[in-house]
Amino acid sequence: MSSRQGEVLTIPNAPPSLNPFFSLACESMPTKLYEGKAKILYTTDDPEVLLSYFKDDATAFNAQKRGTITGKGEVNCTITAALLEYLEGQGIPTHYLETVSPTEMRVRAVQIIPLEVVVRNVVAGSLARQTGLPVGQVLSRPLVEFYYKNDDLGDPLLTGDRLQLMELATPEQVSTLQHYALQINQHLTAFFNRCGITLVDFKLEFGLDAQNQIRLADEISPDTCRLWDQGETDPERRVLDKDRFRHDLGQVEAAYETIRARVLQAVTSGAAV
Ligand code: ADP
Ligand code: MG
Repeated sequence: MSSRQGEVLTIPNAPPSLNPFFSLACESMPTKLYEGKAKILYTTDDPEVLLSYFKDDATAFNAQKRGTITGKGEVNCTITAALLEYLEGQGIPTHYLETVSPTEMRVRAVQIIPLEVVVRNVVAGSLARQTGLPVGQVLSRPLVEFYYKNDDLGDPLLTGDRLQLMELATPEQVSTLQHYALQINQHLTAFFNRCGITLVDFKLEFGLDAQNQIRLADEISPDTCRLWDQGETDPERRVLDKDRFRHDLGQVEAAYETIRARVLQAVTSGAAV
């Protein structure tokens, strides 16, 4: 490979931590495995380990709305790392291994189960639109919903029978997902309460590792959670998540930064443990 003088030599498709220089520590070149809407996955020397790079790209409404949230990659990588580490400490198996740069973490490679597992504590979003229940109504018990992770079909909500029909997971796996989702909800609700934040709802993705064990994968961030500031009653001002981007509420970066700061504060003060 040649480079003109003054030109930065970069590895095509290499994660930012390896550019602009070739890494001697890496025996085989990392290759881009998959680029999604919010992250890029790269292979590593170890077939059981992937590198997940968090982008600033933001999408909403099944990618019909696109934009950039400056610094989102860093913020979401930091928040995801902190929350996955916390959940591991609470006994939830996750894909998280370590953070290697402000925007990159090493994760266990899993075969993603094509289900989006949504847990809701308070009425918002599609639950409000599809049921007519008022936004903000606290549910008497958490609701767990399964959506088919398929962008072409618009990630449709599945009924229990459709879930069985599609055979996307065995009945035992579905009940494990349900169990983990409720446990994670308890842990995250307690965590965010200590941050002065209400966990309204959130989306999880799970996968099977090399030992066929179910692990929580993907990310947990203001992109994938609805988070309301308990110190605000105004229905717009309280929003500290991707709804600010979805509905053009402004101050998107500031909201993400608030979540990062409060999550890190909870972690460092030990209040979360
Ligand atoms: P999407 O556009 O599907 O939301 P993202 O950009 O959020 O994609 O993430 C990239 C992809 O990485 C997603 O399809 C997600 O399911 C997948 N993924 C997340 N964690 C892992 C993992 N540990 N192993 C394999 N795939 C993963
Ligand atoms: Mg995603």
